[in-house]
Amino acid sequence: MRIAVAKEIEVWERRVALIPDIAARLVKQGLEVWVEKGAGERAFFLDSAYEAAGAKIISDPATLWGEADILLKVSPPQEREDGRHEIDLLQAGSVLVSFLNPLGNPVIAEQLANRQVTALSMELIPRTTRAQSMDALSSQASLAGYKAVLIAAAALPKYFPMLTTAAGTIAPAKVFIMGAGVAGLQAIATARRLGAVVEAFDIRPAVKEEVQSLGAKFVEVKLEEETTAAGGYAKEISESSKQRTQEVVTEHVKNADVVITTAQVPGKKAPILVTEEMVAQMKPGSVIVDLAAEQGGNCACTDPGKDIVWHGVTIIGPINLPTSMPVHASQLYAKNVTSLIQLLIKDKELQVNFDDDIVSAACVTHAGEIRNQRVQDALQALAIR
Ligand code: NAD
Repeated sequence: MRIAVAKEIEVWERRVALIPDIAARLVKQGLEVWVEKGAGERAFFLDSAYEAAGAKIISDPATLWGEADILLKVSPPQEREDGRHEIDLLQAGSVLVSFLNPLGNPVIAEQLANRQVTALSMELIPRTTRAQSMDALSSQASLAGYKAVLIAAAALPKYFPMLTTAAGTIAPAKVFIMGAGVAGLQAIATARRLGAVVEAFDIRPAVKEEVQSLGAKFVEVKLEEETTAAGGYAKEISESSKQRTQEVVTEHVKNADVVITTAQVPGKKAPILVTEEMVAQMKPGSVIVDLAAEQGGNCACTDPGKDIVWHGVTIIGPINLPTSMPVHASQLYAKNVTSLIQLLIKDKELQVNFDDDIVSAACVTHAGEIRNQRVQDALQALAIR
């Protein structure tokens, strides 16, 4: 049974799917571990460390991909410089575990099915207690929430903490976090540690206690509709609820030095929470960090991947933030993927068991079929367009 770790070819991707410490555990388990030459370099995990862990370094990507039983990756596979697609390097019957973005790019599922690959998408791991150690969306969102606050603090022309000095007293920065899911809660905790006064808002009332337990004030908006969907995710809300929330949050946005937005609705474009009018009312020098930039942004002014200044307000739309902390991002991701593959290994043999709810939920393709209904629907919608 051979586990292979590919080197990421996406230029911005610095993470690696397995780190030496965790590779050592797989080797101890009696599994063969192959790592592509230089795979961990951009995350500061050197080939020599993988070798010391008992892994074999493979220089030729075609050999690594083509002889893997389970291939581990971070970013979705893509076309290589030589014109061959990474998926075409995989052998039929092998397993691919990676972020695949199958709802955003359902064509990938078709390619994987044609190649007869069993593909497990890290985005589709269910949000259940048993699957917590495999939940890569959470592990990576938490890194993003932390980094967003550091970016905001660096861009703000002010201190975050309250300071009493001989030269006078500095008032603490006011930080408003919109969306209190995994990233939002980590942002609250980080901003509090830096000494800011923090308020947070979410349409799911269930997060109120979590927000308060982190020392932030919860901004409550009473809505007359159900806002929570299955799995604890948010639902898309009606136009009238959107208006109602905007009325309440405008005042908080206006008073904030920093606004960090993290609101997302799975499978949908990110909701606009901060309008142009709201930005225009903010104090000059204020900062917005929009963590939903990749999904279109929560702020109407966001330009994904760019920092812009509008009406004196700096609006930052970072993309792929977890990759900017590749050491811990890789460590956590490696734990996520290796917990998942334990479900696929029985007596050192590959066994894909669809009676397991996690395997069944995460599996996009198997034996030439697209198994996930939402992905099939997304493909069909593409074909109709
Ligand atoms: P997410 O990234 O999809 O969304 C981030 C936040 O945005 C959510 O809290 C959501 O309620 C909020 N949001 C959506 N629309 C909004 C709007 N119009 N205005 C304000 N806020 C809005 O979510 P996530 O952070 O990945 O996770 C969401 C929830 O999933 C968690 O808080 C938790 O309840 C659940 N979860 C469970 C587990 C588990 O049980 N293992 C693991 C992770 C997450």
